[in-house]
This record gives sequence, structure tokens and C-alpha cells, in this order.
Amino acid sequence: MSKTKWILLTVIGALVLGAVIGTVIYIRKTTVDIEITCDKEKIAVGTDETVTIRAVAKGRYDGREFELTPEIDNPLDTSKTGTYEITVKAKKYREEKTVTFAVNVVDEVPPVIELYTQPEYFTLPGRTYTEEGFSASDAYDGDITDRVVRDVSEDRIVYSVTDSSGNRTEAVREIIYSDPIAPEITVLGEQEITQERRYPYEDAGATAVDNYDGDITDRIVVSGSVDTTTIGDYVIEYSATDTFGNVGTANRIIHIIERSKPIGEEEEAKGKVIYLTFDDGPSGYTSKLLDVLDKYNVKATFFVCNNGLDWLIEEEYKRGHTVAVHGWTHDYKKLYSSVDGFYENFYKMQDRIYELTGERPTLLRFPGGSSNAVSRQYCKGIMTTLTKDVEEKGLHYFDWNVLAGDSEAQPISTEQVYKNVINGILYLKGKPAVVLQHDIKGFSVNAVEDIIKWGLENGYTFLPLDETSYGAHQRLNN
Ligand SMILES: [Zn+2]
Repeated sequence: MSKTKWILLTVIGALVLGAVIGTVIYIRKTTVDIEITCDKEKIAVGTDETVTIRAVAKGRYDGREFELTPEIDNPLDTSKTGTYEITVKAKKYREEKTVTFAVNVVDEVPPVIELYTQPEYFTLPGRTYTEEGFSASDAYDGDITDRVVRDVSEDRIVYSVTDSSGNRTEAVREIIYSDPIAPEITVLGEQEITQERRYPYEDAGATAVDNYDGDITDRIVVSGSVDTTTIGDYVIEYSATDTFGNVGTANRIIHIIERSKPIGEEEEAKGKVIYLTFDDGPSGYTSKLLDVLDKYNVKATFFVCNNGLDWLIEEEYKRGHTVAVHGWTHDYKKLYSSVDGFYENFYKMQDRIYELTGERPTLLRFPGGSSNAVSRQYCKGIMTTLTKDVEEKGLHYFDWNVLAGDSEAQPISTEQVYKNVINGILYLKGKPAVVLQHDIKGFSVNAVEDIIKWGLENGYTFLPLDETSYGAHQRLNN
């Protein structure tokens, strides 16, 4: 072996030895650190978030990293709140590491409270608020309306609710007090009335009810009026104001129309009219009078008393005359001592006529006339009261404007009666004549035929009175 060979072998041997030693040293020194990370400690419940777990092995010297595939035990359920433990195990060479992470699935979203409002709702002042409704829902718990707590004070309600994770929500409702509703007025009777003029109008009134005040009929104010003498449309307005100033109103409309029968004055304006009227009967002269009237086909008016001659009252009616009330009695003291006394007497006679004729008369003549002063000694002002009152009751009283002069204690001649009547009629110059005679006086009844003849010859029409006729009302003296 040459010296060169030895040198070569020695060098090769040294190199091999060095490499072996180096490798052993290298392997012994190559330990690793395993690092395991989890990117989240918390996940919102109900989301599709998840955790990212990384396991990395790092060399001790050279800093190189190796991504590892760890074994993971992950029970995480993001649909349920709770703390989940994730165990991660990673291994590199001889190194092995196990780490446990706690991950919380949490609900941090507060519930939502919804307050309902009813469109027609209001709270009356002084009254308690009535709940209009509310609901509470939570993303995790669902409907938690039953957990809502209401804290009611005078002007507000605080609603609060806490979900199972402790998230709390509040909602506030301001209570607004008001009364927007006006009283409701109910018109009693017909709301629209049509009636012929000159009939009395009596208002049937109205009632008022308010949501807050209750029955406030006594606060109704009535405005407007009806003039029953004038054709037209009239409005009666009823209004009532509640405590909060809301005004309720209602109306009644009244149409006053022309009478179906002609009005006396209008008829007489076209032609001269004589109304023959006979008071205080019937009597033994009445029968003859009826024959005279029949003879000329003249209809007259009888203001009768209870004289025990009922058949003559029937007869007057049957022959087409107007039968009207004078009085059951003609006794002024009994008639005019009181209003009640007057009516008692009036209705007694009216009832009797109704029994006899089947028709209830509404026409009357006050014994002594409306202008009598004799009533003053029995009851002051009674004629003033009665003349107004009878019309309000739908009755019609008649006076006269032509006197026969047949009622004096001393009888006058038939010729004088005739003259008195004719002169009286002429004095009126074509205005309607309401002639007063008494058919209990024979000398007066005897003048009737000539009066009729004169009237017919002079272009007059004889008519019976009806409720439309001219009343010939006199000036009151009591
Ligand atoms: Zn009389």
C-alpha cells in the first residue's frame, strides 16, 4: 500500500465518521414544539360560524413550521347556547400535545318588544288605560310575550323583558288622555215632519248620551222655532256639549205646508162669505131653524150647550152643519173660576158631541166670547191663558164680528135683528162676516130666512166654520 492510499483512506474514514456523528447529533437535537390554536372563544348562537383549529409543529432551531393534522373532538352545536369543550390532539415525531378549548355559544341579541295600537282607541281623562296589546320575541327563545313585565304609571307604561341569556329590552308607551267623541243625540219622534199650517206644533224633544258623561239630556240646547202660520221649512237643532267640549248635534226638519182645506181669509178674499153661527142651543126653535137652512141649502155653525136636547145636536150634524162646543154649562162662575174647571166643562160637552155625532169637535166659542170681562171677577187673566192654551191644544176658538143684538134681557124685534146683522155685514166691506145669533131666541131665529135671502141676493156665500176659518178674534179684556 502506498503512502498516498493511506492518506486517501484516512480522509474518507474521517469524513464518514464525521457524517455519522453529525447525523446522530442532528437527530438528537431535532425536537419540535407543537402549537395548537383555536380562533374563537365565542360564537353567536344560531349562526353558521365555526371555529378554526390549527396545529403547527415548529422546529427548535431552524424555525420551520409543519402544518399538522390534529385529531379533534368537537361537540360544538351552534344552535344551542352553552360552553363546549373541544379537545385537540396533535403529534410530530415523538412530540404529542393535547389541548382543550372552551368555546361558548352565546345569545347576545336582545329580544324585541312590539307595542300594538288600536286605531279607535283612546283613554278618557281620569280613566285607566286599557292595554292595546303587545308581543315580545327573541331570536333564540322565540315568543316570550308571557315574560313581559308592565310597569304602569300615570302617563306611561314601561314594558320590559329579559331573554334566557339575560339580554333585556325595554319599550315605552306614552298614555295620551283624550275624549274625541261627541255626545250622541237622538231625536225623539219623527226626524222629518210635514204638517199643514195652523196646526199646533209640539216638539217631541231629544235625548243625549255621551261616552264620558253618560246621559246629558238635560244639557241639550234647542234652537230654531216653527212658525205654524207661515209655509216653509223649519229646522230645530238640538246640541249638547260634553265635559271636554265635544259638541253633538242633531236636527229635526219641519215642513209647514198649505192646508188641504182652504184658509178662511184666503177663501173670503175671492168672494164675500157669511158664517152664520148660533150659540146657547139647541132649543125648541132649533128645529125650525134647521128647516130654513135646508130650504136655502145654507150650512151654519152651532156652538151648543147641554140643554137636554141631544137629538137636535144629532140633527144639526146630520144636516151638514158644524157642531162645535160652547159649554156643558153657560154658568160663568163655573166656567171661569179656574183653567181646569173650564176644560172639565169643555171636555164634558166635547165628549157628548162625540157620542152623538162620532166626530170630536175642535172648534169652540167661549161663553161671553174671548173678550168677556165677566170672567175677571172669578179668575184674573183666565181669558189670556185660555185663548193661548186652546190653540196650543189644537183647538180653535171663534169670536164674531157681527152682532145680532139678540142676547139682551129685553127682546128686540125680528126686524131689528135683521137690520143689525145686515148693517154689521155691510160695515165689514166684504171681509168675512162671523155673525152671532142665539137659537134659543125665537125672534132672532125668525130673522134668519131674510138674512139668507139678502145675502144670496147680494153675492154672499154662506159657509160653516171649520178649523181653517177666520176666527174673528176680539181684543182680550181679561
Ligand atoms: Zn153664549
